[in-house]
Amino acid sequence: MIRVLEPATAQVMAELPQAGVEETDAAVARAREAYPAWRALDPDERANVLYGLADALRAKQEDLARLEARNAGKPISDARGEMGMVADTFRYYAGASEWLLGDTIPVAGGVDMTFREPLGVVGLITPWNFPLTIASWKVAPALAAGNTVVLKPAELTPLTAVELEKIALEAGLPEGVLNVVAGPGSVCGQRLVEHPDVAKIAFTGSTEVGRRIAAGAAETIKRVTLELGGKSANVIFADADLEAAAASAPIAVFGNAGQDCCARSRILVERSAMDRFLELLEPVVRDMRVGDPLDEGTVMGPLISEDQRETVSSYVDDDHVAIRGSAPEGEGFWFPPTVLAPVSNKDRAAAEEIFGPVACVIPFEGEAEAIEMANDTIYGLSGSVWTRDGAKALRAARAIETGVLSINSNTSVRVSTPFGGFKQSGVGRELGPHALDAYSEVKNVYYATGG
Ligand code: NAD
Repeated sequence: MIRVLEPATAQVMAELPQAGVEETDAAVARAREAYPAWRALDPDERANVLYGLADALRAKQEDLARLEARNAGKPISDARGEMGMVADTFRYYAGASEWLLGDTIPVAGGVDMTFREPLGVVGLITPWNFPLTIASWKVAPALAAGNTVVLKPAELTPLTAVELEKIALEAGLPEGVLNVVAGPGSVCGQRLVEHPDVAKIAFTGSTEVGRRIAAGAAETIKRVTLELGGKSANVIFADADLEAAAASAPIAVFGNAGQDCCARSRILVERSAMDRFLELLEPVVRDMRVGDPLDEGTVMGPLISEDQRETVSSYVDDDHVAIRGSAPEGEGFWFPPTVLAPVSNKDRAAAEEIFGPVACVIPFEGEAEAIEMANDTIYGLSGSVWTRDGAKALRAARAIETGVLSINSNTSVRVSTPFGGFKQSGVGRELGPHALDAYSEVKNVYYATGG
């Protein structure tokens, strides 16, 4: 049995059967059986099924949001936004069934054309921080491209994935096209990685497990996409709109209680603006409402587990705490939003992904040092640059080694734009048209016409 906890109360909120190797193999077999018919479906029919699923998810948005808010400990307003994105992601990729185009290439003696073919059965392994959102980024393009899937959600947050499977069947997705196995990563996840009938693994999670998956997938030459950890920089130059940067910086690191791969947890501030920035930051952090995820006014909930709280605590040395927000006492895995300042970019808290509500404020001198510090990490997922100098903003945006960067903003993710990491933050891209490359193979066909 999987005992699913509610992080705000530390109480069990659901129990469900735990899948193992046998259930994983059965799910792969069902996906394999369903593949030929799903792949052969006319593109407009496949699109219609996926549009139907998008509508069904939209109709269930509130129920799913409440379930996700309780199970992942995220504020209901955030969960509602995420479930809206889930429906939008299915709607966006539904259309892709009809615009997954090939090329024609001029060659001698005939016609050369390319086709985008599905891969077959794909294994999708997802984390606990944005459970259904990240699942949708994988399931929707995979199905649109004609694959069938086995989805393994994180053990801590399987509930919305189980709901997705039910909603999909009710919406008319044929049996076996989407299969959910809720079980341990080291058993079900690993089995998917090893399984000879699984053509590809799309994984989101820690860099450590990602490394193991890449090594395991090599055995059967599986395609692999990896969305991994981050330690992103929020670079604030002295000539920026400091009020706007300080108003935005807390949510960019404390959103989802800091359990966000895109968290801009290294706030690099030009030394001459440091005092003013901290002065502006303090009331914003202190006023953050941390509490019950189902309360409409909450902006930050608890951490996902007691283990996570212990890990996060190990990075906080009271001598370096410049600002500490509030958090409820008592049951639940609470941790206050915490700002460490000033911190060196080499300190452990600045170098490692904490995955909790802890921000490091790091001073720098000038553009060259800002870029050097931003790049001095094994990661390269997201980041921001704040300045009123447009040319400097673009120079920095080009120079920072990261997959996603915002100028005078801290946003990272849109359904229609590519998302993914440089360096040890991952391989491949999700979202936007780019995700379809990861769920299809290019086939080149030459037709000799004799002239
Ligand atoms: P995790 O790596 O512990 O687990 C992720 C998934 O992998 C879970 O479903 C887990 O059961 C499974 N898993 C664990 N061991 C496995 C194995 N040996 N073989 C196959 N599967 C296995 O990550 P987590 O703790 O759930 O999530 C937090 C991490 O995810 C953070 O590092 C975060 O940065 C990263 N993340 C990255 C992105 C991104 O898009 N780049 C998004 C969200 C989270």
